[in-house]
Amino acid sequence: MLTPNIIFDYVWLHFCSLYPEAEKLEVLYGSNGQGKLKISAGGFPFFAQKVPFPEQLSWIEFEGTRLPVLFQEPALPLLSENDDQLEIHADLIASAFYFLSGWQEFYSKERDRFNRFPFQASLQYKHQFVTVPVVNYYFGILKTALEKAYGISLKKYENAPTGFTTFLSHDVDRLESAWKVEGLKQAQKGNYFRTAQLVIQKALEQDHWHNLKTVAGTVKKYGATSTFFWLAQPGKYNGHPNADYDIRHPKYQKLIKELAAAGFENSVHGSFGSSENSDQLKAEAAKLNPSVKGNRFHYLCFDPEKTPQALTSADLHYDSTLGFAEHFGFRNAYCFPFRLFDFINLKPYPFLEIPLHLMDATLWHPNYMQILPEQVLETIRPMLQEIQKFGGVFGLLWHNENFSELNIHNGLTVFESIMQELNQMGTIFKTGAAICQTYAERLPEKD
Ligand SMILES: [Zn+2]
Repeated sequence: MLTPNIIFDYVWLHFCSLYPEAEKLEVLYGSNGQGKLKISAGGFPFFAQKVPFPEQLSWIEFEGTRLPVLFQEPALPLLSENDDQLEIHADLIASAFYFLSGWQEFYSKERDRFNRFPFQASLQYKHQFVTVPVVNYYFGILKTALEKAYGISLKKYENAPTGFTTFLSHDVDRLESAWKVEGLKQAQKGNYFRTAQLVIQKALEQDHWHNLKTVAGTVKKYGATSTFFWLAQPGKYNGHPNADYDIRHPKYQKLIKELAAAGFENSVHGSFGSSENSDQLKAEAAKLNPSVKGNRFHYLCFDPEKTPQALTSADLHYDSTLGFAEHFGFRNAYCFPFRLFDFINLKPYPFLEIPLHLMDATLWHPNYMQILPEQVLETIRPMLQEIQKFGGVFGLLWHNENFSELNIHNGLTVFESIMQELNQMGTIFKTGAAICQTYAERLPEKD
């Protein structure tokens, strides 16, 4: 049974992954005692009901930002001090647990046509805070309170990379069908010369989307590195498209080796069905190479009841599927790698989740958003600034097919403008495997 202790330990593990010195400090969560910091556990009873959403949220204010919390003692200030004890009168532990663990998706039965938890069902949508990483703010409050209570200054991890890190990745869905898909679009616009060019390129076995070397070159131009998620299953699944290429072909196997030699990571892009089937996921990863570390599921498919088990059984070290397709922002309200919570065995899952904050398709899609290219930066800048402020890890997905200048909505021009912005903001770039190595140590598995 879920207890306040289990919830506290899970959240504390994540807090200490940012501030390791906190491990030595004592915090009282909902119990009485002599520790110097006490946090009220008013939100805890919510979890016994096993319902997806709290009936109402309270709002608190911290350093000028309004934040939702699951429970706050009415009419009390956020912090109070008495008898050598500081008390936080908002249940930041339960609130952090709610978002990091994946509670709302696990207990909500709402799904879209791809069996995904819809953005519109989320608390973030209902209360409009998807672009605020509220768990990072909770941790900010906790840090401030601990420093005050114990008269110390908590430092972030000593070997922390300069802070703001970008995890850039590319889902490789299509490498061979620009001549057909883009060719048709160009013909519809009357650009027959373009269509002819695309068809000729294809005839020369250089389809316009067979562009991974161009992708790598563009990424290098910004002093960056990235991760390629390869779709290892060709053809269709229940009418939905998987890869338009066969990864076993020698030309792709050669390309995988060349990208690895140039410092890029190759990982697996679990095809339709693999998010619920660990044998399938394992077989797909094996088509790449035996040392594949990470995964992102095609179409961002993720069933909270089955997918974490599939990732665990397939021995993958990290996943980076959890972002909303319909809107950029913070699906788990957090901008660092974390471990989802196993509600059956009541402990964190062994794989790391590196949150996905922005997907190219989200910016321009009939079912998602329609942001004009010239408005993309101003639209996403506040979210980037939040991640920069916390020195977090920004998850960015740009498909290889959108490295084309023929895509005027969310193509090469928009990608380059985002990369310039990121460089100006002083980010560093790391592959998923490198990020995973750092954070797996800071979020140790505990039995
Ligand atoms: Zn995909």
